[in-house]
Amino acid sequence: MIIGSGPAAWAAAIYASRANLHPLVIEGAITEENRCKGTLPLGQLALTTEVENYPGYAAGKLDAYLDSAIDGDRRKYMPPHAGHGISGPELMELMRQQAVNFGTEVLTDDVTEVNFRRHPFELHCLGGRRIESHSVIVATGARANYLGLPSEDTFKNRGVSACAVCDGALPRFRNKPLVVIGGGDSAMEEATYLSKFASTVHLVHRREAFRASKIMADRVLANPKIQVKWNSEVDEVLGNDQHGVTGVRLRNTKDQAKHEELSASGYFAAIGHTPNTDFLQGQLELTDKRYIKWTTAARTYTSIEGVFAAGDVADDYYRQAITAAGSGCMAALDAERWLAAKGFH
Ligand SMILES: Cc1cc2nc3c(=O)[nH]c(=O)nc-3n(C[C@H](O)[C@H](O)[C@H](O)COP(=O)(O)OP(=O)(O)OC[C@H]3O[C@@H](n4cnc5c(N)ncnc54)[C@H](O)[C@@H]3O)c2cc1C
Repeated sequence: MIIGSGPAAWAAAIYASRANLHPLVIEGAITEENRCKGTLPLGQLALTTEVENYPGYAAGKLDAYLDSAIDGDRRKYMPPHAGHGISGPELMELMRQQAVNFGTEVLTDDVTEVNFRRHPFELHCLGGRRIESHSVIVATGARANYLGLPSEDTFKNRGVSACAVCDGALPRFRNKPLVVIGGGDSAMEEATYLSKFASTVHLVHRREAFRASKIMADRVLANPKIQVKWNSEVDEVLGNDQHGVTGVRLRNTKDQAKHEELSASGYFAAIGHTPNTDFLQGQLELTDKRYIKWTTAARTYTSIEGVFAAGDVADDYYRQAITAAGSGCMAALDAERWLAAKGFH
């Protein structure tokens, strides 16, 4: 069983199905709750537009390839191809199709409960199904945290982002003022990274000191392109249909009546991620940030033998589609070898 539906899950499924392990991918349920959380099937990449850094998709037109590769029943619901490379939803549909082509079965449901204390392992789904499996790969990813403002939602993919490495180099952000919110290490990293492309980075922080490590904070404070807005929080992302994000309105956290507007072409939330691990209910060892703990260096082993983890659910450091897919491949190979060693063929 493979739980999840991002690059890690589909890469694991491609390897597992080609190795005749007959995987079932439980890809998540199509529910309003998952829509609001950003955890609908096909994962985080399906929430973005252009993907410029996944190897193998140089800019170019892919319409004919997409039409011939993806099952017509799904193709007809996909947005039109933009014509300059691959989009997140297109890449994810291709990965899913590739896994299905090799015999992967897919169940559109959420896993709500697991029992890893017995073997075969037991999974329970939202729709009521109970499934047993000799081995499980958990690839349920993580979700980016946002402030929860309606205006953030309005401008997602039109200037609102939660990933500087993914989106910072896109033309809409180059040589323009940008806003980053947060005060921890990831906000320092995002602001520093974006300062390579932006004209100015406004780093907005609620307090008058950063939570980040001193070395990272010092690097930000010494960067002439980064301006820190202390004691400030965003109360609205500003924009319009034509240009997407055009700025933010800030509120002073010490004097709520004091407001200020900043012009910006981009708004980057850097207030952390939440790994999708609640359904595990403590049955796998987690890190202090609630990511699954890989227990052996350079392996996808977890604290339970026969259960493997891949992608962002176990990786709060790289968080990229290519690294998620890479660890999905590793998890399938680890599972295959474990099953063979235990005599489950
Ligand atoms: C806006 C945005 C833009 C990005 N752009 C890029 C980019 O350009 N390039 C790049 O390399 N990376 C990009 N990333 C990062 C990339 O999307 C992630 O690193 C990658 O998707 C992680 O893959 P994953 O397989 O670990 O899981 P995810 O993509 O997080 O998918 C996991 C999915 O599993 C499913 N799931 C969760 N819980 C359950 C459950 N209990 N039962 C069943 N199913 C479940 C959900 O559908 C969930 O969405 C971007 C991220 C975001 C948010």
